[in-house]
Amino acid sequence: MRFVDRLIATSLPVVPRPLVRHFADRYMAGETLADAVATVAALNGIGAAATVDVLGEFVHDVAQCQAMADEYVELLDAIARERLDANVSIKLSALGAEIDPQLALDHTRRVVLAAAGHGSRVRIDMEHSGLTAQTLGVYRTLREEGLDNVGIVLQAYLRRTFGDVRALADLAPSVRLVKGIYIEPPDLAYTEPALVNRNFLALLRDLVDRGWAVAVASHDDELVGEARRLADERHLQPDRFEFQLLLGVKEPLRDELIAAGHRVRIYVPYGQAWYAYSLRRLKENPSIAGYVARDVVRGLAGKR
Ligand SMILES: Cc1cc2nc3c(=O)[nH]c(=O)nc-3n(C[C@H](O)[C@H](O)[C@H](O)COP(=O)(O)OP(=O)(O)OC[C@H]3O[C@@H](n4cnc5c(N)ncnc54)[C@H](O)[C@@H]3O)c2cc1C
Repeated sequence: MRFVDRLIATSLPVVPRPLVRHFADRYMAGETLADAVATVAALNGIGAAATVDVLGEFVHDVAQCQAMADEYVELLDAIARERLDANVSIKLSALGAEIDPQLALDHTRRVVLAAAGHGSRVRIDMEHSGLTAQTLGVYRTLREEGLDNVGIVLQAYLRRTFGDVRALADLAPSVRLVKGIYIEPPDLAYTEPALVNRNFLALLRDLVDRGWAVAVASHDDELVGEARRLADERHLQPDRFEFQLLLGVKEPLRDELIAAGHRVRIYVPYGQAWYAYSLRRLKENPSIAGYVARDVVRGLAGKR
């Protein structure tokens, strides 16, 4: 980890809120459902699909979890009403995973059923390693109940992930493959970037060989380049293969992938919890603090 990134990350709590908002703005749609709808409509206009995330995580209040589930149901209604090309991404810790696993399961089921009612889909984001088993358990329960409009995220940095793929083989899940954003100990996760990339590509080939639907969620040129080659070689169709990028990150790559005929989906966060979310994200992954700081400096220098 670069010293400068760590320094930026530790000084974040003293950064004035408006400044955090200044750089958070680029990475989120805004605070309201209307902001999310407008951002997704604009993305659809340039040929990108979206997956919308209501900001909030590690919620320890039962009423807030209920409010989060309500917001997702409203969001799915709005996506259908506006005929947007979008689905939703949820976090179990926002729906009660750290209060009572049953609560998180019940809220997730409600959101997945609401999506099914609109012919839409739900992706369950993957959080820190303490929630991996619970998240995959919720996924299995819902699939065994007959709900198939739900997908998971697998993290290439976790040593357990190949085992999880084998354990999920009977369900042939739709998978978003990511490196993994949380700081995990070396006994659980590869910490060397080259090893994470090697595991990412091995997992990608394995998932494609299994015929599962895969979303490659990365901005890493090496991973995106290899994924493009594989998609071309195997003639992977958009219903089985897509790229996913974060809102506001590497927009030229987004445009290039769309122009090359790939399906591209942008992760669009919105909501009032933007401040806590931004600080936590930046602290969890100081290298992001580094990108953001460099981005702000470039912005101030008028190069954006
Ligand atoms: C659509 C999507 C969904 C995700 N869902 C999850 C999830 O459910 N669970 C999870 O653990 N992780 C998730 N992640 C995060 C992921 O695990 C990585 O931490 C993140 O994508 C950075 O890794 P990278 O593969 O882009 O490669 P990196 O090597 O980290 O980044 C490559 C380049 O991309 C740029 N870049 C990357 N991230 C940013 C950023 N935030 N701001 C500005 N520039 C950036 C930089 O130029 C960097 O050099 C998701 C990522 C995406 C794109």
